[in-house]
Amino acid sequence: MDIFTVIYFAALIIEIVIRAPVDRKRRQEKISDRRVSTQEKVLLGLLSIGGFLIPIIYAATHWLDFANYDLPAWAGWLGVVIIAGALFVFWRAHADLGLNWSPSLEIREKHELITRGIYGVIRHPMYTSQFLLVFAQPLLLQNWIAGWSGLLAFVPFYFLRVQAEEKMMLDSFGGQYQEYKKKVGGVIPKL
Ligand code: SAH
Repeated sequence: MDIFTVIYFAALIIEIVIRAPVDRKRRQEKISDRRVSTQEKVLLGLLSIGGFLIPIIYAATHWLDFANYDLPAWAGWLGVVIIAGALFVFWRAHADLGLNWSPSLEIREKHELITRGIYGVIRHPMYTSQFLLVFAQPLLLQNWIAGWSGLLAFVPFYFLRVQAEEKMMLDSFGGQYQEYKKKVGGVIPKL
């Protein structure tokens, strides 16, 4: 396994480590609104396949070797810089969102609208982080299938998720969320 493949999987493990404590604590929370569509479940499953299962097949077998490509070393290291950025944003987002985080769309009874920290710069830092990760993937996993499967799965997931999430946030926080949306950008900061 080459260094860039190792770094890709190391980044996934770091994400699990960052998320684990929040995930454990939030299970005790009482939920007042939960919106999970079948479509979202399917897209989330595709994201696991594109971001994890296909990369594992690429790393552990020779099945996908026919689709390999070779990039110059600098491109691989650019991937490392991008994935490091993704991890930084992911870590800050979990630190700032705390127990308000959930894997599917949920509002807990004690939900608080977070507009501070990285949420004062962008409204969807976790999705920004995921975009960075899937942009780094083709630089790190130099294969037409394993490199691009993450991006292919994340784009439809993102558009479905963000629309439903903002509707839920508007239903729960009304004018407060509208004000927030006016001031703060989505996945890219407003100038
Ligand atoms: N879109 C955000 C959060 C993803 S986690 C990001 O990319 O960082 C999804 C959950 O986060 C949603 O169920 C919603 O309840 C919660 N959420 C999203 N934005 C929030 C905010 N600004 N404050 C509090 N909770 C938020």
